[in-house]
Amino acid sequence: MPIDLHVHSTASDGHSTPSEVVAEAAAAGLDTIALTDHDTTAGWAEAGAAAERLGVRLIPGVEISCQLGGISVHLLGYLLDPRDAALRRMWEATRASRERRARLIVEKLSADVPVTWEDVLEQTRHVTTIGRPHIADALVARGVVTSRDHAFATILRPGSPYYARYLAPDGIEAVRAVVGAGGVAVMAHPLARRRGRVVGDSAIADLVAVGMSGLEVDHRDQDDAERAHLRALAADLGLLTTGSSDYHGTGKQNRIGENTTTPQALEAIFERAGAAAADRNPLSGTS
Ligand code: AMP
Ligand code: ZN
Ligand code: FE
Ligand code: FE
Repeated sequence: MPIDLHVHSTASDGHSTPSEVVAEAAAAGLDTIALTDHDTTAGWAEAGAAAERLGVRLIPGVEISCQLGGISVHLLGYLLDPRDAALRRMWEATRASRERRARLIVEKLSADVPVTWEDVLEQTRHVTTIGRPHIADALVARGVVTSRDHAFATILRPGSPYYARYLAPDGIEAVRAVVGAGGVAVMAHPLARRRGRVVGDSAIADLVAVGMSGLEVDHRDQDDAERAHLRALAADLGLLTTGSSDYHGTGKQNRIGENTTTPQALEAIFERAGAAAADRNPLSGTS
């Protein structure tokens, strides 16, 4: 019965491979997970095969990096067509910018600590979307910090002299692209303030106006008051609500299945995705 609609693998910045994530979900007693790597569907095929073997239901998904007025927004997209040209262009641009940004961070770091671009490449052999967590892993390997958490709390935090941003598409464009590809858009951790600035209710309403369907409410980075606010907003705007772990393997404290989504909310996601999604095979996920 338990459903977890937000987990990461080594296709982006998780520490478990797509097959391992599915095995970990099965071991935790989950029957449905969505694989939602950052800006890529590269893990779908492997996860889909493992899911079939282990009797786990896999919802193909993605977590899209975007922004509204310079504030970072993460948009979960479910059941979309991975071959859609607009989505692929969007993700390729984001991934290219993420790589340029990672090189810049490492260049700045290398003036002061023993870390090179080759060290980061060591951490990204099977990775499609590079992020700060891979730089953190390289710093751990070099003994500069003790963990990803340590790196994120110190040298990799926004405001650190080594920090750099990447370019992400506008949130409106991202919602339109997900919907255009037959998918369902749900805003990830909308009020996770400890990650940085968050957008207001009116910006969320703007995303709903172009087709966003839901809000991720139960997430460890949102406290009870924030969840209550999001639940009320969802009721006002006619949105579905989800709960999920944002699991990253051993890269983060989050335990798989620590928050879950109701079967009714998942049913609403299927209904909004429509008939085309049912015919799509997650095993065909590309980059
Ligand atoms: P980036 O997308 O490159 O700016 O890096 C931020 C991403 O790192 C977010 O998706 C976080 O979920 C992820 N992340 C992984 N491990 C950690 C950690 N220990 N602390 C904070 N963020 C983390
Ligand atoms: Zn992540
Ligand atoms: Fe996120
Ligand atoms: Fe995430």
